[in-house]
Order: sequence, then structure tokens, then C-alpha cells
Amino acid sequence: MIRFHNTLGGKVEDFVPIEPGHVKLYTCGPTVYDYPHIGNWRAYVFEDLLKRFLLFRGFKVAHVMNITDVDDKTIRGAQAKGVGLDEYTKPFIEAFGGDRDTLAILPADHYPRATAHIPEMVALVKTLLEKGFAYKKDGSVYFAIDRFPAYGRLSKINLDDLRPGRQSDADEYEKESVHDFALWKAPKPGEPIWETEIGPGRPGWHVECSAMSAKYLGTTFDIHCGGVDNIFPHHENEIAQSEAANGVKFVNYWLHCHHLVVDGEKMSKSKGNFYVLPDILARGYEPLDVRYLLLSTHYRKMLNFTFEALDQARTARQRIGNFLGELKGVSGTSENTAEVEPLVETARAGFVAGLEDDLNIAEALASVFTLIKSVNPLLVRGEVSKDGAAKLAAFFTEIDAVLAIKPSPAVAASGKIGAAGDREKRLEAEVQARIEARQKARAEKDFARADAIRRELLDMGIVLEDTKDGVRWKKAGPLRP
Ligand SMILES: [Zn+2]
Repeated sequence: MIRFHNTLGGKVEDFVPIEPGHVKLYTCGPTVYDYPHIGNWRAYVFEDLLKRFLLFRGFKVAHVMNITDVDDKTIRGAQAKGVGLDEYTKPFIEAFGGDRDTLAILPADHYPRATAHIPEMVALVKTLLEKGFAYKKDGSVYFAIDRFPAYGRLSKINLDDLRPGRQSDADEYEKESVHDFALWKAPKPGEPIWETEIGPGRPGWHVECSAMSAKYLGTTFDIHCGGVDNIFPHHENEIAQSEAANGVKFVNYWLHCHHLVVDGEKMSKSKGNFYVLPDILARGYEPLDVRYLLLSTHYRKMLNFTFEALDQARTARQRIGNFLGELKGVSGTSENTAEVEPLVETARAGFVAGLEDDLNIAEALASVFTLIKSVNPLLVRGEVSKDGAAKLAAFFTEIDAVLAIKPSPAVAASGKIGAAGDREKRLEAEVQARIEARQKARAEKDFARADAIRRELLDMGIVLEDTKDGVRWKKAGPLRP
């Protein structure tokens, strides 16, 4: 049985999807007012681990992630730059898709953009007005939280000093200033305006997730994820809007990922400890080193990002790479071979049991490294048969469907590339052609295709790095450094 910590109940619960074998998953996506930073990627990598584990366990997963391309922050950014919203958000949306591919995160089935779903949001606000959960004031529409008794259930907020009828237009605010929140905001000079049935204006931030999740997943679905900072007010408000409008439970399981800090401190541009993915890759780390680091701390624990920790992540991946390299070299000539199957079975059981227990990644990874530790002496003594080596390698392929951290079979390591100039040129031309095909797919928002191309390149031993200056590529490092 899979168990997850549900923020709603405040405890670890058995996971039972609404429809057996199917999971409907909504994860709050990027607000595209800046390049995504590693704190954002921590949440997205956690969600990817969750999704990959569900797929590994045989579930079909319908995954939706919104793109917030209209809210206070995007509007402020576009105004400051003197450009339209679309022009302003475009590079950030592209960077998001690129970094996501680089970190081997499986694409969602849908990436609905807020600006493309105004009619759905307006319909929801209209329903809330009709049902008496919302009211109009000065051209804006607000949700009246005192009319929704379950308000505060997710965030366990104290509503004692709640003053009904106090409003704010801000998308984000602290628990201390709980108030009626804006569903629809009256026109302001310089802001984008939509002419709609509920009047001119633009949506508040929270309403988009309620409207778009209902459109793509239905009014009740299984899992909703985000960072802990989304619990209040964003997710609290989503519940209020959705349940008030639809009259049914919105989400069964709420999973929230803790913050990432850098060297023990909150990441901020002013402190100089603010990192986006290309910053880290520019220091020579592989994307999957970063993925490994983000993955290897349990999602409900604070993750302290340091370059020492990143070095350790790299070392851990090298250990796996070395081990796989050793397996390839097994000649199987010894008559005295050990049984590796029971070791693999133990490792598999530990790996699955760990992840079933609220994604206990430490336990899952420990099983993997215990396997390596127990097989290494057998390899040294030549006691692993060819068949045993194949079984071990197959196990690592199997679990990499969940982890996606395995070093690629390095073309460079074989020494074939570079031996002849022609080969090298052909390789370059081929890589370049594939990079262009991937760029084209991304421009057409065909992220599945773009992801497939990145994987093909990875299989060839080519690692792509999406940097601010475009796509760079390099051969994967040798398995045995
Ligand atoms: Zn959201």
C-alpha cells in the first residue's frame, strides 16, 4: 500500500485513488515573471519523483501543471519593461521547458496558461456570485470567506480575528491578514483588461487553478501538489472557490514540499546566493547531479543546497556509474559464481517499500547502495556471472524509471569517438540537427517530442545544457573517472 502525508488530514494516509489504477494529479506551475530558480526545481523534481513512482507502480497518471502568465508579478514585470504580457513571459516559459527537459522531468499532459482560460475563470466567478459566495465591490469581485465555513481547514489558520467584509486585491499575503480575496480585479491603468460578462478586468491569481484543474481533471481529483508556501493563501483559496462553486470535495490528497535554502540561508538575489540551473551547470556539474541532489532529501524536509552537497551527489552518481561499468566488464569465466538474484530482490523490496512510505527516498537509495556494496567484493573476486551482471544492470534500468539519475552509457568512454576526424564531424552534424529539431519542437510547444529528442541524445552519450546563451552540448563524462 502506498502512503502519503496529506496536509489536509495532517498525517500519513493510505493512498486510494478515486478510480482504481488511475491518478489525477495537479501541480501548481511556474509564475513566469522570472527564470525558474533551484528552489522551484526542488518542488518540480519532487513532483516528478511522485509521478514516476506512481507510473512505476502501474498507475496511469493524468498530470496538469498550470502556467501563471497573468498575476501581480507578471504584470509588474511587464510594466517595468514596457512590454506586453506575452512578450514579457515568453522567455521565462521557454526557460522553464528547457530546464525541465534538462533535469529529466517528465512533461505534464497539459500546461494550461491562465491567459488562455479567461472564459473558464469568468464562468467560475459567475457561479460563485450566483451562489452567494462572492460579491462585487468597485468593479472587482471578492470571495466572502465567512460564507464558506470550511475556510482554513488546510492551513489550520486561526480565524478568530477574522473581520468579514475586509478585502485585499493582493495575490499573495500573510496568514495574519486573512481577508476576502479578489477573484476578479477591476481595471487599472497599464494592466491587461478582458471584457467579460462579469465586467472588464483581469483574474486574481487563485481562481486560475480552480478553473483549469476542473477543466482538465474534473471537479474532484486525487492529488494536488505545491510548495509549503502555497498552502496559504493559494491552496486554501483554491479549495474555497472550487468546493463553494461545485458543491463537491475538491482534492483528496494534498502533498506539499518544503523549502530549499542555500548554505542554510533563504535564497535571495541581494545575498548573492540565488541560483538558476544554468548558473550551476556553468560550474561543470551535470544536470543529473543537480537532479540527484534535489531528489535525495525527503520532500517534507528543508533542503540545504551547498556545493559540497552537490559534489556528494556527483560522487554518488559516479559510484553508480563505476558499478555499471564494472558490470559491463564481467567476463563470466570463473566457475565459482555467486547468486546475485536474492541481493537484487532485497534491494528491489527496500527500494519499493521506502518509496511507498511517503516517498522515503533515503531508504530507497540506501537499498540501492547496499546492493552495490554487497556486489562489489563479488566483482573483485570475479564471482559474478554474465547472467548475474545482466540482472543487476536490468535492476538499475528498472529503478531509473523512477529516479532518472543513472549516468548514460558514455560514447566518449569507449574511445570510439574522436578516433577518426570524420566520425567526430558526423557526430557533430547529427547532434546539431537533433538540437535544432528539439528547438523546433519546443517552439511548437511539443514538449513530449522535445523531451524524446533530449533522451535520444542522452542515449548517444550527449548531454544538453540549456543556458541563457542557447543550447550547449557535451559528451557525457566517462563512467570511470
Ligand atoms: Zn495553483
